[in-house]
Amino acid sequence: MVQDQLLTRDIRDPRTLAAMAEVPRHWFVDDAMQGQAYGDHPLPIGGGQTISQPYIVAYMTQALGLQGHEKVLEIGTGSGYQAAILSRLCSQVFTVERINSLLAGARRIFDKLRCFNIRSKLDDGTLGWAEFGPYDAIIVTAGGPEIPAPLIAQLADPGRLIIPVGDQHEQVLQLLEKKDGQELISSLAGVRFVDLVGEHGWNK
Ligand code: SAH
Repeated sequence: MVQDQLLTRDIRDPRTLAAMAEVPRHWFVDDAMQGQAYGDHPLPIGGGQTISQPYIVAYMTQALGLQGHEKVLEIGTGSGYQAAILSRLCSQVFTVERINSLLAGARRIFDKLRCFNIRSKLDDGTLGWAEFGPYDAIIVTAGGPEIPAPLIAQLADPGRLIIPVGDQHEQVLQLLEKKDGQELISSLAGVRFVDLVGEHGWNK
């Protein structure tokens, strides 16, 4: 997976590559899909949700530019795979999921993998997690109509936030960089994510 899908594309950060090589992705997918766990595509994880394609996980992780000392907030725990990758690259991960069964499954794997620096909760992540902010980096792994204002407020200065923004069919990965009191937004790749559902996301 690392050789064929990441190194041949634009994943260059050695720490991201090492984390992608170490975390057993097959632990995060159902028994029926074990054979496809390392394929170059997203996979269903139940509840109509998906675990992102390995390349997208690596791409978003690399874009955060983590050095190791950071506190990171993830919105959309899902299978827990992205959080487990992040847990090896920063000091603390806070992750929020709105579907209880997914969160329960992810927590079991965090324990099994001994990811003791991950804290998780069941909630609407478009509100962020104010108690432990501000965060050096924020990653949203579901697509919304705009960047939720509470997340911008909970981002440290300097800080980086990455989120898919668009309609419910396709989005663009947006990177918001906060620095010296300024916010700079750049558009990265086109992507397709499941809906970010919540007060500052899509309504359902
Ligand atoms: N990072 C996950 C990707 C999961 S898909 C992984 O590595 O597997 C996106 C997840 O975002 C889904 O589990 C969905 O339930 C969750 N989600 C959608 N809107 C949310 C919200 N407002 N707060 C928290 N989680 C949300």
